[in-house]
Amino acid sequence: MSRSARRLTACAAVLVLLAGLGWWMAHVPAVQDALLRRIVERTLGATRNDLLADDALRVVLCGTGNPLPDPNRANACTAVFAGGNMYLVDAGPGAGKNLALWHLPVAKLAAVMLTHYHSDHIGELGEINMQTWAQGRANPLRVYGPPGVEVVVGGFAQAYALDRDYRQAHHGAALMPPANWTMEPHVVKIDTAPGAGPCAGGSATVLEENGLKVTAFTVNHAPVAPAYGYRFDYKGRSVVISGDTTKCANLVAQARGVDVLIHEAQSASMVKIIEAAAIGRGNARIAKIMSDILRYHTTPEDAAAEANEAGVRLLVLSHIGPPTPNAFVRMAFMRGVGAVRPRGVVLGYDGMLLTLPAGSDTIDTSSVN
Ligand SMILES: [Zn+2]
Ligand SMILES: [Zn+2]
Repeated sequence: MSRSARRLTACAAVLVLLAGLGWWMAHVPAVQDALLRRIVERTLGATRNDLLADDALRVVLCGTGNPLPDPNRANACTAVFAGGNMYLVDAGPGAGKNLALWHLPVAKLAAVMLTHYHSDHIGELGEINMQTWAQGRANPLRVYGPPGVEVVVGGFAQAYALDRDYRQAHHGAALMPPANWTMEPHVVKIDTAPGAGPCAGGSATVLEENGLKVTAFTVNHAPVAPAYGYRFDYKGRSVVISGDTTKCANLVAQARGVDVLIHEAQSASMVKIIEAAAIGRGNARIAKIMSDILRYHTTPEDAAAEANEAGVRLLVLSHIGPPTPNAFVRMAFMRGVGAVRPRGVVLGYDGMLLTLPAGSDTIDTSSVN
């Protein structure tokens, strides 16, 4: 055996020995416990309180999918951090798990703004209310939305009332005060000119607190009416969240000059491929649904055109559909966008963090996961 072959054999033997030692140690309870303690220590100390600092307007995309299931995207959810508080726009299924996995400071959730009452925007409201209460939320949860919010909030409150009682009995009212579990519905009314339609204009102030101003405005998601988008202004920085809508002049007006426009987007060409495939397989139900949904969303190209018209600095596409499971599909989804808006547009993803420091023009993008 040559010298290099002997060296190789010795290296392989050491590696096998180390792997064996590691395998043996992984079965030793004391080693397991030590590792678990380290993981728990890291997890318990991981709450992202830094996101609450009052030096910037921050946004985390906590759900960027649409109702067609995508393993990498929860349903509609956008978290906004301003003035020491956390706010959510929509509470779609899957979003609560994201908030917990990323250690977002959910005990500071002050309010939820609902854009409309499709299930992909409200399905996790009860769970998020319960989870943030259990994590120490020190206030009732305000829930703002178009008329109908009292029905949605009342329904979730009824469904979760037994759960509240179990937890209170188990952990004690001092730890989990029932008053803080309460959701308070706040109807946001927006007057629009009779017969003019939601995109002709219409907005209303939702709240002003700790330097933050939130404005609701009407968008077009017919037959869902009214449907709202929301604008957040804080220390000279601004973000608009479109809600579900077709291309809409009122959205362009409300988003004029903002730093970030988070806009829903649905690829019409991809939906048409699904529709054609469904027709080919004789599946009239899926074909009809695909044909219907084409009429009440915005294509990525049209969202880019609106961002140009409004003069926004960064367009972030969200509420993405159909699903985009790999880079190839994401490329197909973004087809045509570059021709409309060569710069200042990104495809949003679950965990995307946007930081807009006060007193600057900077928009930092990073990830919380
Ligand atoms: Zn919708
Ligand atoms: Zn939706």
